[in-house]
Amino acid sequence: MSKNYNNCLSQLRKIKNIIQLKGKNSRDREAVYEEMEVLEKPQKIIQVSLPVRMDDGTLKVFEGIRVQHSDIRGPFKGGIRFHPKVNIDEVKSLAFWMTIKSAVVDIPYGGGKGGITVNPKELSQTELERLSRTYIRKMSNDIGPDKDIPAPDVYTNPQTMAWFMDEYSNIKGKNIPGVVTGKPIEIGGSLGRDKATAQGGYFVFENIKKKINLRDKVEVAIHGFGNAGANFAKIASDNGHKVVAISDSKGTVFNKNGLNINELMEYKRQNGSVVGFPNSEKIKWEELLTLKVDLLVPAALEGTITKEIALGVKAKVILELANGPITPEADEIIDKNNILVIPDVLANAGGVVVSYFEWVQNLRSYYWDEEKVRTQLYNKMNKATDVVWRAKEEYKENMRTAAYIAAFLELSKSLKVRGI
Ligand code: NAD
Repeated sequence: MSKNYNNCLSQLRKIKNIIQLKGKNSRDREAVYEEMEVLEKPQKIIQVSLPVRMDDGTLKVFEGIRVQHSDIRGPFKGGIRFHPKVNIDEVKSLAFWMTIKSAVVDIPYGGGKGGITVNPKELSQTELERLSRTYIRKMSNDIGPDKDIPAPDVYTNPQTMAWFMDEYSNIKGKNIPGVVTGKPIEIGGSLGRDKATAQGGYFVFENIKKKINLRDKVEVAIHGFGNAGANFAKIASDNGHKVVAISDSKGTVFNKNGLNINELMEYKRQNGSVVGFPNSEKIKWEELLTLKVDLLVPAALEGTITKEIALGVKAKVILELANGPITPEADEIIDKNNILVIPDVLANAGGVVVSYFEWVQNLRSYYWDEEKVRTQLYNKMNKATDVVWRAKEEYKENMRTAAYIAAFLELSKSLKVRGI
């Protein structure tokens, strides 16, 4: 799906029709009538201006957004991205996906998302800190540990969350770590949060791999080498899989015998990009997406796999670590070509699951060891994968549709008992 909110609405209506037609009992079929319409509109959209003094003394005014899509199942939850292309329509779509995602993995959260229209690469650390603190000041009445809990997303990180948490705590006059997740460990972050999205995606893939009898050790291509992509590369390679190609925003590296991921991570740390990595060939990123591999992992931005690219995709499985990396037109082609897509709302939900664990730890002031986080994540991801797979078999639909069906049935149950 692409980041267009109209696509979210079409998806919602499509699923409603499928459940009404194929729902296994009248309870499920009835569940989706009126209640589902509530999900068509975000509950609240907050737009703020963010005046920030630059290091050279000049003033710049940025735009900040927070979309609170639904809190039917619990507080709004979702990341905040810093990117020049951030806009309301995109943030609405991302917030909608968070509502679905929280329901798919059955955590007591709703969906929200936020962002600032900015190119963070053009700002110094001190400018970024002032921008982050200004955003939280402007949003402070609308967020909170039992209301709306932000987290990192594209080009935001634990440091950004630390500034958010500190500013919010200053405003409220007490320490409130549970207001954001994805924090540094020193101030209440959870062990295992840094690689949670990749680890969760990996658990889902291993589960699916057995269901479809894919060979044990697979060949992987990964588009995006940030938090999600690089951690996935490391986990896959540590588990004996062969990662043959990796892209970042500057280019793509390929080695048919497998890239050494530990060395590549170090190379990227020193050089700022994967490009030029020794023992690798430079290819175009379109070539990476159409390589004949077992597993393709889009882990960069939305809309990467377009119709044109979809026609050439030869992977057996696509694990959507990025949100919405396949456009709707491309999705149809990929589906027709019998390529199994593990949808974003399941594939990358590990991040929000460990965010939930972090929040639980903050509320209780009792901190888990990494093994407990890993085991709990494994349980949650496996259970969600099984639920989605069951819906896939029951409704005879692809995994994306099945994930939405599973989520909508959960959401409509909550809507029904709460009343409107
Ligand atoms: P990040 O900023 O850490 O990394 C993004 C990566 O994508 C970078 O390596 C960048 O170089 C690369 N990239 C950007 N444009 C590219 C292009 N045109 N071609 C190839 N590579 C490009 O971000 P992230 O946290 O890893 O998030 C990536 C995706 O995963 C996003 O869609 C995000 O919404 C999704 N996601 C992330 C998390 C998380 O916990 N980090 C959770 C859920 C979903």
